Amino acid sequence: MIDTCQQCGAKCCKYFCFEIDEPDTFEEFDDVRWYLHHEGVSVHIDEGDWYISIASPCKALTGDRCTNYDDRPLICRNYTPETCDDTPGGYDYDAEFSTPEQIEVYAAKVLGQKAYEKAKAQGRAKADGKRKFKKPVHAGKRK
Ligand code: SF4
Ligand code: SF4
Repeated sequence: MIDTCQQCGAKCCKYFCFEIDEPDTFEEFDDVRWYLHHEGVSVHIDEGDWYISIASPCKALTGDRCTNYDDRPLICRNYTPETCDDTPGGYDYDAEFSTPEQIEVYAAKVLGQKAYEKAKAQGRAKADGKRKFKKPVHAGKRK
C-alpha cells in the first residue's frame, strides 16, 4: 500500500459508489428519499451527475490495509492517490444529501413546492388505495 493511502485511513476502501439516473419526477425523488432512509447511504451530485454512496468497508480491509492487494479488482487498480477523491476539492460536490429531509427540500425546489405537495398527496393516495383494496390472493379462483 502506498504511504499516502495509509495516511488517509483507506477512505476509498470503506464505501462504494455508483452513478444513478438524475431524478426529475416526484416518484424518482421519492425513490432517492427511500435510499436515504437507510443507514450509511448518501447521494451526491458531482459535475451534474448523480451518485449513490454506501458506507461499507471492504472485506479485504484489515487495519486500513488491503489484504488482497495483488488480486484487487480493476476499479481499485485504476484508483490511485494521484487521481483519487482524497485530493484537494475531490469531495467538493455540487450537492450532497444524507437525510430524507434534505432531498425533499431539494425536490420541492426543483419541482416547485405546490407541485411537489400535490404529487406527494396523489402518489400516497394511489399507493394506500392499492393496498387497501388489494384482492385476497385466492380471489376469483373459487367456482
Ligand atoms: S487511493 Fe486515495 S482515498 Fe484511497 S486510500 Fe489512497 S489516498 Fe486514500
Ligand atoms: S480490494 Fe483492497 S484496494 Fe480494493 S477496496 Fe478492498 S481493501 Fe481497498
